[in-house]
Amino acid sequence: MIVVMKERASEVEVDSVIARLIELGMDVHRSSGATRTVLGVVGAGDVDRETIAILDGVHEVLRITEPYKRASRTYRPEKTIVTIDDVRIGGDEVIVMAGPCSAETEEQCDASAAAVKRAGAKIFRGGAFKPRSSPYSFQGHGEAGLKMLRQSADAHNLKLISEVMDISQIDLIAKYCDIFQVGARNMQNYTLLRELGHARKPVLVKRGISATIEEWLLSAEYILAGGNNDVILCERGIRTFETATRNTFDISAIPVVQKLSHLPVVADPSHGAGRRDMVPQLARAAVAAGADGLLIEVHNDPDRAWSDGAQSMFPEQFDRLMAELRIIAPAIGRSICLEAVARRGRAGRAI
Ligand code: PEP
Ligand code: MN
Repeated sequence: MIVVMKERASEVEVDSVIARLIELGMDVHRSSGATRTVLGVVGAGDVDRETIAILDGVHEVLRITEPYKRASRTYRPEKTIVTIDDVRIGGDEVIVMAGPCSAETEEQCDASAAAVKRAGAKIFRGGAFKPRSSPYSFQGHGEAGLKMLRQSADAHNLKLISEVMDISQIDLIAKYCDIFQVGARNMQNYTLLRELGHARKPVLVKRGISATIEEWLLSAEYILAGGNNDVILCERGIRTFETATRNTFDISAIPVVQKLSHLPVVADPSHGAGRRDMVPQLARAAVAAGADGLLIEVHNDPDRAWSDGAQSMFPEQFDRLMAELRIIAPAIGRSICLEAVARRGRAGRAI
């Protein structure tokens, strides 16, 4: 970092700032001009900018490197590809994860999994532990829900992602799922993130409801710092002054994150829009913006869903969206669910 001293900072003040930085384990390179002194500070330690900014004679403290290390492109210039058997998230193929908000019944899970598989999704999504705004809303079936989800995923040859809300659920969820989802409300649950750093399965971290991109990357850093390198980021919309949509889907977060970090970034247009009639537009935009994948809520009977029905797509709508994405992805040098196209042939494309 750079410490800019005030124009009239005294020698005593400059010396005492230097002494404090050295005490904190940093190397200091002093440069004194006609009116100001500037200190270049380097070192492995983590110095809180504010504690230096408050010292006598300091005008400004500027950071020149990101506060996250392992998550940054500087640390790892090449993109991370998270691999689960033959599914590669972060490579050329745009990976689609889709399914209902919650696991409700065996029939619902099976019908939803069949629908998303037919359309070309590679990963089944569904919640068994649900973070609901109201304690009176359906909270998920817990382990029974995980069983239903796993059974349906296996029946249709899909991988499975499901939300973990608490460290007490990690072992149980690991037994059934291929990827842990950390929800927006838990993005800053540092105890959970730390524990997931020791897990041996990939973790998808959703952006917090009012989190900056830097805070989001610092959450990913917690998991990476614990030794788990398989982290996927997910933009799901943030809370702004706008009320027309459930959240404001931050499309610019996709290129910003890809510039700052090597981690794959996927988009969740369902929670971004909050309405199924707007999900296709946001999904198409996310793929065009370079998202490495999509997380979409699809339900076999969304009007009767136990949670998030309004934003869950009908299977036919999802089919149509996937057909559109198969046109958009190649335009930016990506592929998407080629397997499903080949298998379905002309009938598949005619939707
Ligand atoms: C979900 O994926 O169903 C969910 C609860 O998402 P979020 O954490 O983004 O609100
Ligand atoms: Mn949901």
